[in-house]
Amino acid sequence: MFEKSTWIRLPRNVVVGHGVRSSVVEVVDELHLQGRPLLVTSPTPRAVAAEPVAADFEAAGIDPAIVTIESATFESVETVIEAAEAEAASYLIGVGGGKAIDIAKMASHHLDMGFLSVPTAASHDGIVSNRGSVPDGDTRHSVAAEPPLAVVADTEVLAEAPWELTTAGCADIISNYTAVMDWRLAKRLKNVEFSEYGAALSEMTAEILVDNADHVRPGLEESAWVVTKALMSSGVAMSIAGSSRPASGAEHLFSHQLDRLAPEAALHGHQVGVGSIMTAYLHGGERGIWRDIRDALDSIDAPTTATELGLDDETVLEALTTCHEIRDRYTILGNGMDERAAREVATKTGVID
Ligand SMILES: [Zn+2]
Repeated sequence: MFEKSTWIRLPRNVVVGHGVRSSVVEVVDELHLQGRPLLVTSPTPRAVAAEPVAADFEAAGIDPAIVTIESATFESVETVIEAAEAEAASYLIGVGGGKAIDIAKMASHHLDMGFLSVPTAASHDGIVSNRGSVPDGDTRHSVAAEPPLAVVADTEVLAEAPWELTTAGCADIISNYTAVMDWRLAKRLKNVEFSEYGAALSEMTAEILVDNADHVRPGLEESAWVVTKALMSSGVAMSIAGSSRPASGAEHLFSHQLDRLAPEAALHGHQVGVGSIMTAYLHGGERGIWRDIRDALDSIDAPTTATELGLDDETVLEALTTCHEIRDRYTILGNGMDERAAREVATKTGVID
């Protein structure tokens, strides 16, 4: 008897385009959300996006509450939960870069409330995915949350974000290549749950982005468009798979470990990009696709070396040799890399000198 079942949770409305920030109230109405929204934002996006959205709500006769968080920490999640209770909010709207959205997502999970994602930077696929994680002391606090009810991505706002945030979003997408390699390997060796649709969509997303890399240039609103659509597509791949596997393999373990060893040294997307160069080498050797990944990163001005990440060689090697311990996720790193092997892959790929 066939007894499998699966739930694919997706955002109901995805609105991308020039000036769509002013559509948030309409989107909320379309979702039949009642009551008071709590806007979760951080200092810079508060002025550029959260306050204008709040003004739109007021104009529509809805009284929104706003909470500003400073950092991506578990305390911030608690601050938002308390604010939602104190303000009697009935749904959350994350307005900002990855940080505010991740916090809103995690708080909405704890509160069992819906949330909307209004990204102001196309910096990583957390703006649409159902995964949330923040550092919590020495570990990471991760939840498999609901995806946003809707995503409203205003390309006019996204194009104004610092350029490196956009290149970080691109690098996060490019790393899908190695994430899927790790996933296939884990399926073969460990029989982990695998989705052909999730894998194919993830790889295709990376491919479309690389093919359109010429349109990813500073100051072009089209760049925000290309990257945001790719981040959406990557998020959908994760929803189809019911896991972050389509977009997160060993290169993400490497990045999470760097977050612990050298907090805030570099952006998430940039770290996974460099990780992806090395794990592609581990998968395919000298003749593998690591050069294509490096060249794609290079063509959009994303870092390809430890120095460009602002890290020293030793930190990169330590992350590479210890990151398999972070979580129980089988990847090409297996049960850990030997120090000399790590130095070799980092040197051969030009990540360290
Ligand atoms: Zn990522």
